[in-house]
Amino acid sequence: MLRTSADLVVDVVDHLEDGIWLLDPGDARIQDLSLAGHAQIGSSPGQELAVSFRDVLFPAQSIEGWRLLLDQVPASGAHALTVRIRAADGGLLPVQLTLSRTRTRTTRPGAWAEDQPAPRDMVLAVTRDLSERVTANERIAAEHDLLDRTLDAVENGVAIIDRDGRVEHANDAFARLVDLHHDRIVDRSVYDAPWGWLDADGEPIHSESTPPVVTMRTGEPSDAALVQLRGTGLDRPTEELVTVRVHCEPLLDLRGEPNGAVLALTDLTEAQRWKALHHRRESMDSLTGLRSRSYITKHIAAAVDAATETEARVGVLHVDLDAFRSVNDTFGTTFGDRVLRVVADRLRDLSDRHVEVGRIGVDEFLVVISGSGASLAFDTRLRRLAEEIQRRTEQPLTIEGLELRLTASVGISRSPANAGDGPALLRAADTALAAGRREGRHQLRFYERSLDERTRTGLALDRDLRLAAAQRTLEVHYQPIIDLRTGEVAAAEALVRWNHPEHGPIPPSVFIPTAEATGAISAVSDMVVTTVAEDVAGWNREDLLPVGARIAVNISSTEFEQRGFVDRIASTLANAGVSPSRLELEITETLLMRDMETTAERLTQLDALGFLVALDDFGTGYSSLSYLHTLPLHTLKVDRCFVGELGNGRSETITRAILSLAQGLGIGTVGEGVETDEQRKFLLEAGCDLVQGFFYAPALPRPAFEKFLRDHAERRRTVDLQPV
Ligand code: C2E
Ligand code: CA
Ligand code: CA
Repeated sequence: MLRTSADLVVDVVDHLEDGIWLLDPGDARIQDLSLAGHAQIGSSPGQELAVSFRDVLFPAQSIEGWRLLLDQVPASGAHALTVRIRAADGGLLPVQLTLSRTRTRTTRPGAWAEDQPAPRDMVLAVTRDLSERVTANERIAAEHDLLDRTLDAVENGVAIIDRDGRVEHANDAFARLVDLHHDRIVDRSVYDAPWGWLDADGEPIHSESTPPVVTMRTGEPSDAALVQLRGTGLDRPTEELVTVRVHCEPLLDLRGEPNGAVLALTDLTEAQRWKALHHRRESMDSLTGLRSRSYITKHIAAAVDAATETEARVGVLHVDLDAFRSVNDTFGTTFGDRVLRVVADRLRDLSDRHVEVGRIGVDEFLVVISGSGASLAFDTRLRRLAEEIQRRTEQPLTIEGLELRLTASVGISRSPANAGDGPALLRAADTALAAGRREGRHQLRFYERSLDERTRTGLALDRDLRLAAAQRTLEVHYQPIIDLRTGEVAAAEALVRWNHPEHGPIPPSVFIPTAEATGAISAVSDMVVTTVAEDVAGWNREDLLPVGARIAVNISSTEFEQRGFVDRIASTLANAGVSPSRLELEITETLLMRDMETTAERLTQLDALGFLVALDDFGTGYSSLSYLHTLPLHTLKVDRCFVGELGNGRSETITRAILSLAQGLGIGTVGEGVETDEQRKFLLEAGCDLVQGFFYAPALPRPAFEKFLRDHAERRRTVDLQPV
């Protein structure tokens, strides 16, 4: 057979130990491969070479990866790199890969010259098996290198000390911690260390007592919990100390003889800084920068304890912003937070050597004052401080162009008069505050022992209320709601009445808010709704209620927000056989603003079931009118504070505005608290639909209300019969 020069080349190539690959530059398809190359990937020369070199590489390369690789290959010359390829045995073979560009005809041996295609751009790849070539030396060097790199990667400072106490090796962290260059560390003796050891107080530690020397001498591990290292000015100022924990571990040779030591330093600077920061955080309220609850309560306890020894006095002012929740509900918590920061800044200015200010709840602050002298004089100081606090918090504040006026209530307690320890003093201030809150806004109260009595009474009352609800001794009265144009009874509002067996009648304005706070409201509400359902069922049987008339029931926000509320009320009505359209649920504006989404969802649910919903006390909240048209509301009740002040221009304007707003939205209106004929006339003329108030009737016990219905119907009939 005629041997061409190409055959010769192939022979030579096949004798080389390196794999020789001819690759298509476009997709790395293998055009030709030497014997050694075949051996490396475990294929044989006869085999079809459809594979791409990209898949031979590990990990396999995408076309994109291949192109990026080729970009590194110069036009003349080669690009070498170490890679792994997939070997015959399924393992990975480390190879040195050398890539260069070439122009050649892709030929198979034996092809005739004239058959050969024109030369093409090709990539010549040479793969040199590295697995066998790693010499013992290289391995050792590699291991050392690995040790170096490993040591440099760890965060601890590590030094290896030989049997004579000389530093054989120090990692980067070690050099950083002792603030010296490697060459000033390596070969230096730990008996005369180039860095200084200081104890926690900054006093030099004698060389004999340093951990490495102890370990060298005893052959035992040694530790030091808190050692400081002084900078040398290399990377940090000489006065800067770094705190480390030191551990030294002896090294033994093969026979178990001492053979040096490993010295490890753990940097505690960050940990200490963190601890300091944590302490600061713990003692500071993050929103306002005032003292935190934990700090201020500890401070009070300590101050009271110290005061019992020195006969000094401690006063605690528990400050609460009135109705702050509605600010949060209406404008959102981000806005609320800004308000709190402004208030906090105003209070912070009060602090001095004797006064500490902290925040202990969302809108609650504690001001602690220490002093001495006569108790009367101290009380005067406390009162002045409380008044100053109220004055400061009640100054109008403007945020985002909105002017807000807050009020604050303060409860005051003092030791030793009210309490002998911190917690008791705090409780006393809280009791005083709670007593004030019962009276309304802008209160200032000193603690007195009788207040505890009242707290106990409050608890007893709550128990009594739950009992009354369970035994159904609460009564439901009905206040008629009259259609202004026809004079018909269009509805009635159910109002709960509690005649306490010992204390006599207690108005709902007193016990409802407490019941809302304690949760007793659920029992009250269940009883009221059940009673109303039964009463309505009775009136239906006797045909007493005018056609379309409904009974309005007040629903507390806490009640409305409870899960299962809708189901409960629906099943109560179903049990009594009363249609939901006979009931109107009165909810308040604040409820709408608290959690708009859930409220809207629940209202839609109620609407679908056929309930009517009225918005009570309208105009008293921070109203955002934009939500009104999106909700299925049937009635808007103009708060009686506007009706009561009709005649006053401002109230008249507001009332007209509310009425025309409701008309525009197709929502019915009720004017509340109509007491005079003037008020009735004004409302009629302003377009109000319905009214309720003492002018017609107060809330009546059921028999009286039934009589009212009968009399009213009778009168209407006689009026109707009168000739016009
Ligand atoms: P409200 O919903 O605004 O009820 C109207 C209040 O105005 C009633 O006070 C009623 O007696 C009073 N009122 C009616 N007409 C006049 C008037 O012409 N002049 C004046 N000055 N007042 C008038 P009441 O019964 O003391 O109830 C106070 C509040 O207690 C109610 O305010 C309501 O928020 C709540 N409440 C009453 N019953 C219930 C109840 O069953 N459940 C719930 N959750 N709250 C109730
Ligand atoms: Ca009401
Ligand atoms: Ca009302």
